[in-house]
Amino acid sequence: MIDKITLLDLDNNDALKSFRKEFYIPENTLYFDGNSLGLAPQITQEKMSEVISTEWGQGGIRSWINHEWGISPQRIGNKIAKLIGANEGEVIAADSTSINIFKAIAAALQVNHERKIVITEEENFPTDIYMMQGLEAFAPSTITPKIVPSSNLLESLDESVAALLLTEVNYKTGEISDMREITKQAHQKGILVIWDLSHSVGSIPVDLNSCNVDFAVGCGYKFLNGGPGSPAFIYTAKRHQSQVKPILSGWFGHINPFAFSQQYEPAKNINRFMCGTPPLLGLIALECGVDILLKADIKLLRKKAKKLGSIFIELMKDKFKSNEFELASPMNDEKRGGHVSFRHAHGFALSRALVKRGLVCDFRSPDIIRFGITPLYMRYQDLYDAVELIANVTGSLSWKEEDQNVAFYT
Ligand SMILES: *Cc1c(COP(=O)(O)O)cnc(C)c1O
Repeated sequence: MIDKITLLDLDNNDALKSFRKEFYIPENTLYFDGNSLGLAPQITQEKMSEVISTEWGQGGIRSWINHEWGISPQRIGNKIAKLIGANEGEVIAADSTSINIFKAIAAALQVNHERKIVITEEENFPTDIYMMQGLEAFAPSTITPKIVPSSNLLESLDESVAALLLTEVNYKTGEISDMREITKQAHQKGILVIWDLSHSVGSIPVDLNSCNVDFAVGCGYKFLNGGPGSPAFIYTAKRHQSQVKPILSGWFGHINPFAFSQQYEPAKNINRFMCGTPPLLGLIALECGVDILLKADIKLLRKKAKKLGSIFIELMKDKFKSNEFELASPMNDEKRGGHVSFRHAHGFALSRALVKRGLVCDFRSPDIIRFGITPLYMRYQDLYDAVELIANVTGSLSWKEEDQNVAFYT
């Protein structure tokens, strides 16, 4: 049995504890949803305010140059590169993850142009699958999507496959895929690999270059704390960049946007993966989140996250002796990313009841409640309070009838 004193001790001795002060912490709330929307850094408000009042307010359009707005996608991309084991010039902050998935699939098909099959797993996040389907609807002769159960993934890789599109940390279970091994096996068959890092970046150490990854994308508003709808990023290994002729051939990916020429010619570098004008305010907020992560050692963060997760699982096991909650995440800390999921027969109603009482978690159909683990601003004592609250709610009589129809955006 872990008691609260032990957890308070862990908080006192936590090497990362000072980071919590850098965030707005919602009042009367246990926030277990930073895997879906990271909390707001205080510096973001200061920086945004300065950008709006001074750079935009006084500088107007001149700030694209005078305040380096124009190179912010590259600057922030290079910062994100440090979090995911990529080189300078391989990552750019742009667009949404969904759009970047589209770009990466199209790019992989161009590089591997003699093949058409793109494989993903049924368990992948739906937008990854939808983007393949959209490309197929538009250009059926160029792509054949194949959606296989993850249990069949490796057997389905053969010399007819152009690309493999996978998410490293499963959005429902939090299970981490073996990026190094899967990428290696795909490469042995001449298959290019695209990794979706939405639930990885800022949560677990990623090493794209050493795993020889071809393309990757990821999300800014989860563990990067870039703010709601924050710009995302795309990584393209240097060796592939010049072979890709962007389909989303907007003027910002042009070799010289301000020449206003009639003919599209892609930039020579990662810039060709941009499309339109960079969303500057969103980028500035994203950069604030990324800067905090760069100050915190990702290895320390990961160590704390594993410990938070395993203590949470243990507390839940101690509290609920029956099988009311079934762990849907790996028990093994090494295999579990930044959230802990439980199946529960009344998962939806329970998750709503918990949110209503201040424990912000979320629900994924059909029966999974997800609890996000965010070591930057989460405390060990929060785990104890969360489990107590879950016990109070499930022990009360009325929660199953509550607000079943409330639509939630988490
Ligand atoms: C969150 C998430 C996305 C988000 O895509 P958006 O375009 O930002 O809505 C994409 N893929 C995965 C795996 C995600 O978890």
